[in-house]
Amino acid sequence: MTIPLLQLDNLSKYYTGKNSVVMGLNGVSLSFSRGEFVAITGESGSGKSTLAHVLGGILPYESGEMLYDGKPTSHFDSIDYERYRRENISFISQNYGILAGCTVLENVVSALLLTGMTKADSAKKAKQLLTEVELWEFRGRRAAKLSSGQKQRLSIARALAKPAPVLIADEPTGNLDPENSAKVIHLLAHAARERLVLLITHEFSEAEAFVTRHITIADGKVVSDLPVKPVEDVTEATPEASKKSRHLSFWFSRLQIRSRPVWSALVLLFFALTAFAVFAFLGTFLVNLDDTPTRIYDDSAFPNGKLTRIVTARTDGQPMTEADYTAILQTPYVNALERYGYLADVQYAWQEGIDFTYDYGRDVVGDQHDQTVNMTATVKIRDSADYLKTVPLTNGDSFLKEGRLPENISEVVAAGSEDLIGKSFQVHIQDKKNWGVTARVKLDVQIVGVTDYGSGLYFHDDLGKSVMTFLYYPEYCYLLLPNESVPDTHVRPSILLYNRLASRGQDRLSLLDIQNPAVFDNLRNWDNYLDLILYPEDSGEIRVNNHPYILCVEVSPNIFDRYTVKENCDQVSVTISDYAYTDRVLEQLHGKGYMAVSPFREGSTKVNPKLSQQRMQTLLVCILAFVAVAVLQILVLRALFTAQTESYKLLSNMGLSWHTARGSVFWQVTLFALLGQGITLGAVLLCDHLKVERIVHLLRYLPGHLMVLLSIVHFLVCFFTAWMIARGVRKQVYPLVRKFADLEEVAE
Ligand code: ADP
Ligand code: MG
Repeated sequence: MTIPLLQLDNLSKYYTGKNSVVMGLNGVSLSFSRGEFVAITGESGSGKSTLAHVLGGILPYESGEMLYDGKPTSHFDSIDYERYRRENISFISQNYGILAGCTVLENVVSALLLTGMTKADSAKKAKQLLTEVELWEFRGRRAAKLSSGQKQRLSIARALAKPAPVLIADEPTGNLDPENSAKVIHLLAHAARERLVLLITHEFSEAEAFVTRHITIADGKVVSDLPVKPVEDVTEATPEASKKSRHLSFWFSRLQIRSRPVWSALVLLFFALTAFAVFAFLGTFLVNLDDTPTRIYDDSAFPNGKLTRIVTARTDGQPMTEADYTAILQTPYVNALERYGYLADVQYAWQEGIDFTYDYGRDVVGDQHDQTVNMTATVKIRDSADYLKTVPLTNGDSFLKEGRLPENISEVVAAGSEDLIGKSFQVHIQDKKNWGVTARVKLDVQIVGVTDYGSGLYFHDDLGKSVMTFLYYPEYCYLLLPNESVPDTHVRPSILLYNRLASRGQDRLSLLDIQNPAVFDNLRNWDNYLDLILYPEDSGEIRVNNHPYILCVEVSPNIFDRYTVKENCDQVSVTISDYAYTDRVLEQLHGKGYMAVSPFREGSTKVNPKLSQQRMQTLLVCILAFVAVAVLQILVLRALFTAQTESYKLLSNMGLSWHTARGSVFWQVTLFALLGQGITLGAVLLCDHLKVERIVHLLRYLPGHLMVLLSIVHFLVCFFTAWMIARGVRKQVYPLVRKFADLEEVAE
């Protein structure tokens, strides 16, 4: 005698509530074999569903015994039940066990893949199954959009896809019209050719023509058990489940994403937001690690501490060559190069209009020849904080926008619009470091060209040469200015502006008046004259006082060329496109063998307590905001992913292992994180394009490797989130999986 496939032996099942115990099944003894198609009927509440759930391993029982394939099950714990369900039972309920968001085809293919079939075989088999249940033409439709009859047929197709020996259908026709009911019954009858099919129904008549046996139950007891027609031999071999492990995680993650477009869009949006938050908050954190901007600039070494300035020189101290200029200009982020590096620490003010009062005067040197001239001029200084620069070497950009380059020291190019061309005015040059705080040299200039580059004025090379000469030979040389109208044999003191407010009321000489012959005659009588390096023999009469306040003499172009330096400068001043690139440019220049410093960095020594405190606050806020975003991401995404619990339950009943489920969670999160970062990148580039200042700022400060670091941090947060989501899925869907996994390991 063959062993029955499924056997109940005096089995009882109680439902225990808080105060009551309800009898679900009461001493039921039944046995079933493969090939049987059994109808189970009974009044509502008689225990049909209870029986189905006990047989299906969904509910445990309290007394008696259930044997599967002759083996008792009364000792089963949850893990055993899970395995029992996965391997032996296909369950169809009134509520259609289908993946609502997936297409008809995906529903069946997913079930087939879980049996260990290859994708190609699954596709073939799915076509066969869907043709059988008359749904092939609807294969592309989302399951949620099917009619009730189609849904139930689809759930049968899924159940048939699983090669379980037992198929239990609990009132599958409950929601169906007679035509669809008939179709479903027919399919179940067909399924019984290779397995045991238990059909629970309240409409026995519709199944009567097909079933082999009819069991009636009432009050949890079997009241009749009658054969209807003989059981045919099992015609088809038992479908064999090949539980070969295939790498299905990715496939299922895509299935999950595709099946809920709106949900996926929402989740993606959230990942994009967190990616953006990581970029914004951690990016700001990284940027603020540089505390230079919170320090007070000390201009004693470099008066010009412009953020975008980098001073560079050869390590051997030799003058720069053309090759050096080229090498420096080829450094990324370097925009322009000022060849007369020292010039960049000399300030000039741009006189414009006359509505600013300025006192010019000069202490008389020595005690004997007190000469005082007080002069008041009113000038308007437009920009007293700019530093001298000559027409720079640029990094391929055309410098000049309109007009021409300066051809002599009194011509300049101005940054600005074309209507500036032709304007004449005076500039007041001031080298606080070398000339003292109040000394200024006046220069008449005319704008001959305009540029889009930078700001302020760009002077002729002669000014650079002159300043360099002065710096090289401070004791012997004055700031020379070439002037066509001065004969080769003469020097002419140019304008020195001097103002010492502290000495107000004392003797003063305005050197504005040096050009006034009367005043100049007086000058000649002073004691402290010193020979100028240029002391043309035949001019004899003209001397210039050595007082350090006198700085400037005009000479003929010939004399100028003879006495100014001809070599290139040994120090050049480089303009970079943003302070953010300082480290990168310094690194590059050092790498190319140059000395290079950022004057702003070098000069920012003293801590500004207020700014420093603000910086600390920013750092703290960034970190807190990052942590908040991370926590929010975990909480929100865990909540959002509970939407998948139902489908994971369904899939787990179809045989989806915990391993694959977890893998699919991680894949989903990886895909979302990647896409989210992609969206963030797009958004950031768009912001950059639209010149959103904060973003542009961050982007500049964050070199590639820090961007990669931020991306990794975002991935870490995402993986932690995935881990938390997976834990949720495990709790809901695979409550005892850890033990289960251990058992499997032991079995191997
Ligand atoms: P049927 O499917 O035939 O309508 P059920 O098997 O669902 O009947 O129910 C059988 C009996 O068990 C009924 O009295 C019902 O109230 C009771 N019952 C079913 N499920 C539960 C439950 N989860 N808790 C308590 N009692 C239940
Ligand atoms: Mg029921």
